[in-house]
Amino acid sequence: MDAMQKMEQLVEQLNQYNYHYYTLDQPLVSDKEYDLLYDELTALEAQTGVTLPDSPTVRVGGELLQGFKPHRHLASLWSLDKAQNEEQLQSWNNRALKLIADYNAKNPANPLPSPTYVLELKFDGLTLNLTYTDGKLVQAATRGNGVVGEGILAQVKTIKSVPLTIPFSEGTLEVQGEGIMNLSVLAKYNETAAEPLKNARNAAAGALRNLNPKTTAERKLSAFFYNVGYLENLEFHDHREMVDFLKNNRFKVSPYVTYHDSFDHVMSELKHIEEQRSSLDFLIDGAVIKLTDMRTREVLGYTDKFPRWAVAFKFEAEETTTILESVSWNV
Ligand code: NAD
Repeated sequence: MDAMQKMEQLVEQLNQYNYHYYTLDQPLVSDKEYDLLYDELTALEAQTGVTLPDSPTVRVGGELLQGFKPHRHLASLWSLDKAQNEEQLQSWNNRALKLIADYNAKNPANPLPSPTYVLELKFDGLTLNLTYTDGKLVQAATRGNGVVGEGILAQVKTIKSVPLTIPFSEGTLEVQGEGIMNLSVLAKYNETAAEPLKNARNAAAGALRNLNPKTTAERKLSAFFYNVGYLENLEFHDHREMVDFLKNNRFKVSPYVTYHDSFDHVMSELKHIEEQRSSLDFLIDGAVIKLTDMRTREVLGYTDKFPRWAVAFKFEAEETTTILESVSWNV
């Protein structure tokens, strides 16, 4: 089989897996297996210089489910570039540093600041995009294909920690987060469930994309919010200001968000997160590293699929419903 034939086969196979994962919330293979095939396709695309039009490497998410009203996001939602080891992470950082240096060489009068980093947990649930107008929650949507998602307002309203009104009441904003099912809640649910749920990611995603909000309510979901994607009448200079805004507007923000001046510190902190991972009461599939400065983010911009100013460090796949005694960053 030549490279083109192999690429066609991988695109078809990965798109089939995407359909089961994103549209049906019933994955056919493990994330690890999916990621290996995805990496093989990426390598072949780099080698041949060809990207097939329906390749998953240039598309966000999957098809929308019928039955939900489509919602066009005010600002696009993205996937994340990923690194699976320190070398790949270092390469991501080197690319970002080079883009910053190139910009500064061309704009000596107004250079970008020295890069600093924020490190967050990468929650494994379903992306949520909430729209507030004049302080009221008016829509909630899935990520969908990044441009249009499924409207799931009634389902999201069953999450008790999602604020229905917020103090910020000057225009429209969109806030992104992750809908999750806590592992302790999943274990309790399974004690009496006629059909026990296998894993918390699919349990949360399936509940939020269920046409009956009563089913969603029964799963007792939670959510963490980490981004303001669209905002009128206010600007943030860095990530810290954005997180403060989320907190001040009563969004549930992860208790774990750390800031680092040096990339070496980011690397050592990642090890700490990985060690703590099994003591959490929710699933994470990695950590996300983002440049903190908003002007730098604007300059670095996006590929077809993800921002150049962020990267996901993926941990080994682990799907468990077991809760350990000590839960250090509980929800
Ligand atoms: P991604 O891994 O590219 O990450 C982007 C998502 O991360 C965002 O949409 C957001 O919801 C989430 N996220 C969680 N915490 C975040 C934080 N702190 N900051 C920013 N975003 C945060 O997501 P993707 O493109 O949906 O998924 C790709 C991955 O999904 C693959 O690498 C694979 O592991 C898995 N997948 C598995 C299958 C399968 O069949 N098993 C199929 C498709 C995808």
